[in-house]
Amino acid sequence: MKLGFEESQTAYASDSQSARAWTEAWVSAWAYCPHCGHAKMSQFPNNSPVADFLCLSCSEEFELKSQKGKFGAKVADGAYRTKCERLAASNNPNLLLMNYDRKSLSVVNLMIVPKHFFVRDIIEERRPLAATARRAGWIGSNILLGRVPESGKIHIVQNGVIRPKEIVLQEWQKTLFLRSESPETRGWLLDVMQCVESLGKQDFTLDEIYAFEEHLGRLYPGNHNVRPKIRQQLQYLRDRGFIEFVSRGSYRLRS
Ligand SMILES: [Zn+2]
Repeated sequence: MKLGFEESQTAYASDSQSARAWTEAWVSAWAYCPHCGHAKMSQFPNNSPVADFLCLSCSEEFELKSQKGKFGAKVADGAYRTKCERLAASNNPNLLLMNYDRKSLSVVNLMIVPKHFFVRDIIEERRPLAATARRAGWIGSNILLGRVPESGKIHIVQNGVIRPKEIVLQEWQKTLFLRSESPETRGWLLDVMQCVESLGKQDFTLDEIYAFEEHLGRLYPGNHNVRPKIRQQLQYLRDRGFIEFVSRGSYRLRS
């Protein structure tokens, strides 16, 4: 993998158009499929409604978003309705997020959010475009990256450093169990995973997770059984090998 973009011979009308061409050409040339390890991703014909790339070996689909600066807590994405409809579909795309450096024309960060981290709660509906806009009334979406657990942000390139492929594939495999759950069930799981990770340590106690009771209660207003819900998610995460049970009330995050 080389991080630099190939000089393009084509002249583009705008900066964003040329950036799109460079970044897409880079992904086609260098990005591998994190799901099956296939060496290449293939580009979809232009104007596919949601996805940009496809793995010809395992059929995983990918959407590419790229920008100069780092992505914040929200990433603007396509039409809200299309995003919601695709959530439950088997070909919902994984999200590739790329930061590049405009001066050196090279990739700085490339991160992938596996599709099983996408639940209804992280897709935010934006306000319809104003009547004066070219696409008046069109409703876009934001992806709330801030609500995605760290284990759902897999770095392929981080601060200009290419991470080993085996590690990326391992990190991908670690959370695949989420795919067997419905988007509704996954919401709670992902939120509890994020609470566990936010403690920033390997060993933790049930009480430390109970401390998020109010926070989780705000995310799920109307649910008055937050503590049993927390225990249920921890048990599930333990059964799937994401965490292990050490002794009564204490757990360990598996690395
Ligand atoms: Zn693949």
